[in-house]
Amino acid sequence: MQRIVAIIVFLSQVLTSFTLGAVNRKVIDIDYGGADVTQPAVTEWLTLAGGDQGDYVIVKGATCSEPETTAALELQKYIRLISGITLELTQDTARVRDKEILVGLTNREPQGGIADRAALGEEGFRIQVASGKLFITGGGPRGTLYGVYDFLEQCLGCRWFTPGMEKVPQSAQVDIDARLDYSEKPVFEYRYQDWNCTFDEAWRAKQKINEGTSSPQYGGPVFYANGCHSMSSLLPDSYFETHPEYFSYREDKGARTLDQRCLTNPDVLAIVIQNVRKALLASPNARIVSITQNDNGGYCQCEHCKAMDAMYGGPSGTNIWFVNRVAEALEDEFPSVRFDTFAYQYTRTPPKNIVPRDNVIVRLCSIECCFSHPLEECGVARIRSENRLDKFPFIELDSPAARRAHVESAFAKDIRGWSAICKNLYVWDYTTNFMMYLNIFANLQVLQPNMQFFAENNVKGVFEEGNAASVSGEFGELRAYVIAKLLWDPTARVEPLIDEFLAGYYGEAAAPFIKEYIDTITSKTLKTSQHIYIFQWEYEGLYFTPGERKHIDALWDKAEANAGSAQQLANIRRSRLSWRTYKANLLVDEFSPLNLAGRLKENEKLYNDIVGSGITYMTLGGPISTEPNFWMRPVEWMSD
Ligand SMILES: [Zn+2]
Ligand SMILES: [Zn+2]
Repeated sequence: MQRIVAIIVFLSQVLTSFTLGAVNRKVIDIDYGGADVTQPAVTEWLTLAGGDQGDYVIVKGATCSEPETTAALELQKYIRLISGITLELTQDTARVRDKEILVGLTNREPQGGIADRAALGEEGFRIQVASGKLFITGGGPRGTLYGVYDFLEQCLGCRWFTPGMEKVPQSAQVDIDARLDYSEKPVFEYRYQDWNCTFDEAWRAKQKINEGTSSPQYGGPVFYANGCHSMSSLLPDSYFETHPEYFSYREDKGARTLDQRCLTNPDVLAIVIQNVRKALLASPNARIVSITQNDNGGYCQCEHCKAMDAMYGGPSGTNIWFVNRVAEALEDEFPSVRFDTFAYQYTRTPPKNIVPRDNVIVRLCSIECCFSHPLEECGVARIRSENRLDKFPFIELDSPAARRAHVESAFAKDIRGWSAICKNLYVWDYTTNFMMYLNIFANLQVLQPNMQFFAENNVKGVFEEGNAASVSGEFGELRAYVIAKLLWDPTARVEPLIDEFLAGYYGEAAAPFIKEYIDTITSKTLKTSQHIYIFQWEYEGLYFTPGERKHIDALWDKAEANAGSAQQLANIRRSRLSWRTYKANLLVDEFSPLNLAGRLKENEKLYNDIVGSGITYMTLGGPISTEPNFWMRPVEWMSD
């Protein structure tokens, strides 16, 4: 039945597309968000290297930390890559010279650098020219490392698009503004994303992503002592046989189930406290421990839990009561640790008559939301259905009327509610279609407004979940780059970031064609009132007229013809897989059944290109099949 409804919805979009198609092509003006910043003109230059007055030396503290050493070495390396000149690297115990670049905490600091270290925090930095010297100084060691990377980007023009692709300008002389002086510090204390291309500590450090950079040279720290959805490890299923009362009672089943734990059972609390303690002792550098519900909706409905739910405004209140007790029991022994829990699905709504303790983190999750419109504005959501036995139990198709109605954002209400009662509010947000990673997913226009919305609501940490499973056949690398910048500065202007990424990753000459493609799919998404979700069937997507498809094919052809290098051509072909897969799933053009035998060959070619480009997962549901049936569409090419 749902398939039939879906096809009707799809056909209604086809008709809308025909009427809007002609308009889309002519005017494409997408606002990708962020504020314009105009830099004042430089009136006086300072030459660090390659001038006729002698080169600067890099000076670090004699007893400096490992991240400060990394910072000094990276500065030396990139100035060499820019100019061919290797600046001397020395320590502050050496004689004082006129032309010095001071990296981190040194004994030259009275002449310049940071006046108020505490105000910058561990990860903030100041970059300043004073007394003819350049100071790159962090509030803490990690701030110095971020300061060097920021200086290389903002002042010398370096870019790190992906771990394997960087841009280093070439210049025989290295000049900077002689009046340079700026400070930055992060809005979010916790910054993380898991797009597959970001699994590289060195790249993360360059992008100032602080989770997943725990090696000493990048300054740590370890954030989480354990993984998420941790209740099944904090109170294992193995107790069920002897103590079914520890587990969630389900009214619909009339029985205890393994789904969740009975949080009002005192033994459950005691066992969880014991196991949280064990996890912290096993991970002495961790700053956070996770006490989070399993990934299902089966919370306990026993009479005690129901009574507590009623007292505290729902299951989120009972969950906060439970996590507060754990945090209280362990706070003296672990004063620097915070105790993390979810506001996820059945616990997303803020509780009443109870607030999280000061050492509790609440991670609010946007899993149900629409991702083509800003979270603050669009309330259309896809609610998890527990009754579906699919591999993906999230699907509940909204009606065509719901797609076009304005619905107030329940997520916005929830974030404001949590913000009012929670000292440490984090967000877990989503940036791909997990059911089909290769689907068109036009969300670049919401990344900035959403990040700014989090910041405005006093969110302290953000995790952006992407396709971690394998390399992207879509725009994962672009998204990861933009997300990294927004995690540091939620007001960053996105369009220039997109433009510089496209030019670097695909080639200067190819970039305009790919930009037009991105603008086209984004415009189509917005103009046909498409809400997009992270679990969405391929047939719920966009419909392009044959003329529009021909135009898009030509854009990709032109992009390929204008690739700058073999690597850039490979990048274009890999990102094009999303468009080809879209057509194959919708059985159009070269993938049309009317193309008889040709279609099988096209499917086989597409499959070989997907696998050949290193993609191993097309969906969260499992790896790509090694024996695909080319009579079937790409959505069917996954292993069971
Ligand atoms: Zn219970
Ligand atoms: Zn929407």
